[in-house]
Amino acid sequence: MTTTPPTSEPLTPPQLRYIAQFVEAYTARTPGSAAAQRAAYPFLADPRSSGGPKAPPAIREFWNATKRMRYPIVGKRCAGARGWDIDGNEYIDFGIGFGVYLFGYSPDFIAEALHRRIDTGMTMGFQSDVCRDVAEGIARMIGMERVAFANTGAEAVMVALRLARAATGRNKIVVFAISYHGSGDATIPGLGMLLGVTPGAIQDTIILEYGADASLQRIAELGDQLAAVLVEPVQSRQPWLQPAAFLTELRRITAEHGTALIFDEVMQGFRIHQGGCQAHFGIRADLATYGKIIGGGLPMGAIAGSARFMDRLDGGAWSDAEDLPEVDKIWFSGTFTKNPLTMASAQAVVERLAQAGPALQERLNQRAEALTERLSIWLRERRMPVSIVRFGSMFRFTGPLPTTLLVPHLRMRGIYTWEGMVFFVSVAHDEKDLLALEEAVKDSLVTMRKGGYFV
Ligand code: PMP
Repeated sequence: MTTTPPTSEPLTPPQLRYIAQFVEAYTARTPGSAAAQRAAYPFLADPRSSGGPKAPPAIREFWNATKRMRYPIVGKRCAGARGWDIDGNEYIDFGIGFGVYLFGYSPDFIAEALHRRIDTGMTMGFQSDVCRDVAEGIARMIGMERVAFANTGAEAVMVALRLARAATGRNKIVVFAISYHGSGDATIPGLGMLLGVTPGAIQDTIILEYGADASLQRIAELGDQLAAVLVEPVQSRQPWLQPAAFLTELRRITAEHGTALIFDEVMQGFRIHQGGCQAHFGIRADLATYGKIIGGGLPMGAIAGSARFMDRLDGGAWSDAEDLPEVDKIWFSGTFTKNPLTMASAQAVVERLAQAGPALQERLNQRAEALTERLSIWLRERRMPVSIVRFGSMFRFTGPLPTTLLVPHLRMRGIYTWEGMVFFVSVAHDEKDLLALEEAVKDSLVTMRKGGYFV
């Protein structure tokens, strides 16, 4: 599937007038959030509402014209698929916690597990009594041997890379452009987003184009030099790339050279399929990283994989009858890792997912498919230069630059997602919610067209 790349034409006078009016209306609807941001700036360094890197003049012009809307909506309350901001506006939330809340906000079974744990005391420093259940539950669902926990998805990714380096004795890794890992790449002149990263780290990281045959060739050439290839099998930033044949070949080449194939499943794990992208593509990675859904709303990461790699954390399983294993280990631990609240929440999620089986994700994927198909037909009929790309229950709109204006337009119509423009269908969204999104998208795009866009 292809998409229209963002264009950077200078703004026309009607567009400038339209944007100015729209910014007025948007800020008038969310004055509390705007004021909160102004008050926070001096103290709070927040990349989420910051200026961008250097960009071509037309893109900067657009950013400056819309800069007064560059504040996060401050949330006050949430329940199910809905959130309310500090100005009292209600939203049907399709961002749903950056994709965390597969079951909607505060589902009873997670809230009850957390309350129960608080009531029994938050026994930090003791081992949580459900670690094994959670590790086993995850291992069974994703079909991997062993599981370790971290506090965030990013931490899990870092640990996976260290395990790969430790087990292979090699340093170099491959990541792919635009993905979560390769964002400071060719799209940003001067690699601006890599400021603060040492030249040594950059030297050992090779950024290649995702899905391209040339990248496979390069990986094969690098052969035994590579510790790992880290891949987000379907990138939330470019979900139109779903390269099954590429991944199969990647698996073959990495296996041939003893290189760790790491699937970053932080976004898609437990979402596209109970077994994540590994199950979806029928490809077994050596290591996989998780986060988001599995913590049920609490900060959590998990690293899973084969004993060859995972045993570098603890030496591997052993029994009282044996001597302690002797293995060169990496040191990884954390004060809050396996903390009792996170583990209680994760246990509730693991149990619920296991009970529901893969049908849960299948149903969500079907519902998202029906919604996006209806919208795609409408977009084509109206000759909108905007398309929807979907992977399972996640989708995003792509098209020329003003497509980013769609998010604030939707918020004006009571539909929320964050600036990343990624949408998710969760268990808590009912059919009326999906219809409301559909109508809001249509109405927003028609309004934008009247304002000089998409003509
Ligand atoms: N990997 C991917 C693919 C992600 O999308 C994210 C976060 N969106 C992360 C890793 C990092 O996870 P966390 O935000 O929990 O650190």
